[in-house]
Amino acid sequence: MSDQYQAFAKSPIGKFVIKNLGLPSPTPLDRFQAGAPVIDGAVLLGAAVNSTLTGAISQVLSNIHADTYAGNNAQLQQTAAEVGLNLRAFNSGDKESKFKALVFDASGIENADQLKDLYNFFNPVARQLEASGRVIVIGTTPEKAGSVSAAIAQRALEGFVKSVGKEFKRGVVAELVYVDKGAEANLESTLRFLLSPRSAYVSGQVIHVSKGKAVKIDWAQPLAGKTAVVTGASRGIGEAIAHVLARDGAHVICLDIPPQQADLERVAGEIGGSVLALDITAADAGEKIKAAAADKGGLDIIVHNAGVTRDKTLANMKPELWDMVININLASNAVSYTHLTLPTNREGLNANGRIVCVSSISGIAGNLGQTNYAASKAGVIGLVKFTAPTLKNGITINAVAPGFIETQMTAAIPFAIREAGRRMNSMSQGGLPVDVAETIAYFASTASTGLNGNVVRVCGQSLLGA
Ligand code: NAD
Repeated sequence: MSDQYQAFAKSPIGKFVIKNLGLPSPTPLDRFQAGAPVIDGAVLLGAAVNSTLTGAISQVLSNIHADTYAGNNAQLQQTAAEVGLNLRAFNSGDKESKFKALVFDASGIENADQLKDLYNFFNPVARQLEASGRVIVIGTTPEKAGSVSAAIAQRALEGFVKSVGKEFKRGVVAELVYVDKGAEANLESTLRFLLSPRSAYVSGQVIHVSKGKAVKIDWAQPLAGKTAVVTGASRGIGEAIAHVLARDGAHVICLDIPPQQADLERVAGEIGGSVLALDITAADAGEKIKAAAADKGGLDIIVHNAGVTRDKTLANMKPELWDMVININLASNAVSYTHLTLPTNREGLNANGRIVCVSSISGIAGNLGQTNYAASKAGVIGLVKFTAPTLKNGITINAVAPGFIETQMTAAIPFAIREAGRRMNSMSQGGLPVDVAETIAYFASTASTGLNGNVVRVCGQSLLGA
């Protein structure tokens, strides 16, 4: 599971070889450390004329005490002052200053000409972003724009952001956030996640924030008092999810198949959680999950992480390999829909509950030898998209789609394919289980009321399906 190439790239001889052969040079990514501020470095804030989200963005920057700079923009300065954000002056001729994040409110861009505002903000400072820096562009949902020119201009932001993600290198990530009208108060969990190293391996993503109930939380313990079930929690990504949700304050019920009992007990012991040894494909799995949470105030969060691969080209695939992958990866995800959220079972998931599914970039791009797996993971996206608008009581459903993550699952891939998967992304490295876990914790956050129906890839902007 170790990335020997990355270790070699850091050595003096490795640096020499990589530079001269033009090989990818992975930058060690910043990752969340307990007690660290949301963002460790300066933020440069900009806004297009008549942008409507600057107040909400400034409020978040003020809440996290970000060291924020802005150029000469009277409208922005006035809006920031109104919410108590202390903006420091930045002169674009200053080439010495370094920033950890470049944040641009593009909501005022209503036609193709005004897209030049993006160029004018980012071009002069493109070389002044630190390693593991953040580029965040915030716009309004193109499909809900007031005119065709605004829809074109807002959608154009996506091409810009995804290209920046591919250009900036050195662990820099670039994201686009579309905010619905009236959803300004729901932006905070998203901005905090994207500004912080919790989103280390999330790049080139488009996140939609819709209007939800505004909830006040303790950001140090965003899941305090919540009960979560994590399937496949005995190892790999599931183990990391269990740890991160527990760190954020949740009681975690760790679920895995009975043969994994010993590892399950180890993980649950480390985080003060409980154990549920259960095959998620069992007919009564939904009932058993509900029963396990009954004495803990009911279930608030379910994370469908359990999954398997059984790779073979279609011509060589035995029917039992097809059935196994579809049953575990897909049918089990429907448990939360059929057992926990149908009107007759609404008590199965508490109000403001969270369902988070684990898809895969294979489900978006398809993959050789993975007709069964890719079908199952595409189906997970179908579940999320269909279910999201039907949910009531503040319950949300979202999915993460990991790319190449360093686990036992990817360690089993043949060497050449494994190396290609690891390097073919904007970070030139695989992600860690904790990167997927942090993204799941963001969706699971009590404050993420405005996130419903999103599929966010945790893939370092993999070229697969990009
Ligand atoms: P893993 O094989 O290390 O862990 C999967 C866990 O699921 C295991 O503990 C296994 O026992 C459990 N499980 C399998 N069948 C089960 C069942 N019927 N009931 C209950 N538990 C069951 O895999 P991982 O790499 O940690 O992957 C976790 C999830 O992430 C999977 O859904 C996988 O498809 C997805 N994913 C992983 C990657 C990656 O690069 N590792 C990429 C994309 C998606």
